[in-house]
Amino acid sequence: MDYRKLFVVKPGAQVKLAKLDPDYTGKHLSEDHARADTEKYLHKLNELQHLMYSEAKHALLIVLQAMDAGGKDGTVRHVLGAMNPQGTTVAVFKQPTAEELKHDFLWRVHSHAPARGMVTAFNRSHYEDVLVVRVHKLVPEKIWSGRYDFINQFEKRLHRENNTHILKFFLHISKQEQLQRFHQRLLDPARNWKISEADYQERECWDDYIKAYEEIFARTSTKYAPWYTIPANQKWFRNLAVSQIIAATMEEIGMQLPKPQVDLEMIRRRYHQAAGDGESPPASAKRQGWQKARAKK
Ligand code: AMP
Ligand code: MG
Repeated sequence: MDYRKLFVVKPGAQVKLAKLDPDYTGKHLSEDHARADTEKYLHKLNELQHLMYSEAKHALLIVLQAMDAGGKDGTVRHVLGAMNPQGTTVAVFKQPTAEELKHDFLWRVHSHAPARGMVTAFNRSHYEDVLVVRVHKLVPEKIWSGRYDFINQFEKRLHRENNTHILKFFLHISKQEQLQRFHQRLLDPARNWKISEADYQERECWDDYIKAYEEIFARTSTKYAPWYTIPANQKWFRNLAVSQIIAATMEEIGMQLPKPQVDLEMIRRRYHQAAGDGESPPASAKRQGWQKARAKK
C-alpha cells in the first residue's frame, strides 16, 4: 500500500477529520507484524539522507502538526533518529518571544528552513499562526485569514528557489487517546515534565482546532507542499506510514552521488607510490590481502 496515495490531501479537497479513523493500521495487525516494513523504510531513509547530504542539491522539510500529545516528538525521534545527525536539524516552535512578536509571523520561521543537503523537521510550525492564533483570537480575523496565501507563497518560494521538498503531516489522534496519553504523563515520572496547565484548556477547544485544521488542509495542501493526514492512535503505525511517505518522496527526487572533484587515476597512482615507499597500507587493505595483491603485480 502506498500511503502517499491513501493519506494525501489533494489540493482544494475538503477533508472531514471525523471520517478518518485514528485507529487505522491497514493490513498491519500489530507492531510485531509491521516491524520488518518499518525497519526497511528506516534503512532507506538513512541511505537517502546520505545521498541528499552528499549531493547537496535538494533539501527536505518535514512539518509536524498535531493536537497536544499527538506524537510530534516521537515522530521526530523515529524519523530523524534513522539519519546521520550531521545532516539534520530540528526547529521547535513555541509561543513567540516578545522580539518575535514584533515581526511578521514568518520572520522566525524562515531562518530554520533547511539548507540544500539538509533534512529539517519543524515540531509545530508557521501553521500555529492560523491555529492557536485563530482559536484564541490572538490577532483579528482579517489578519490571520490573509496568512494562508502568505504560507503558500512562502512554501512555493522554498521549493522553487531552493529545491526544498516539503511534506506536512497532521498526526490524527482521537480525543479519547489524548486523554489516555495525558494519563500516562501523570503516571510516568519521566513524562511529568511534558504536562502543561494549558493542556485541558486546549482540549476544551478541540472542535475549534479541528475546524481550523480542516481549513488549513483545504487551503494549503499543494502539489509542492502536500498535507498528509496520518492515523496516529497507534504510534507504530504512525511511524510506519510517515517513514514510508518520506522515503518514497526522497526516492523520487532521483538524487545521485556527486562526481569526485579530483582526478581519481592520479590520486590512485599517488596512493600506490606512497604505499610502495614503505608506508604501511590501511588495516582494511591488509585484511583484504593487499600485500599479496601488490606482490603479484
Ligand atoms: P508544546 O509544543 O506542548 O511545548 O507547546 C507549545 C505551545 O506553543 C503550544 O501551545 C502552541 O500552540 C504554542 N505556540 C506555538 N506557536 C505559536 C504561535 N505562533 N502563537 C501562539 N502560540 C504558539
Ligand atoms: Mg504540550
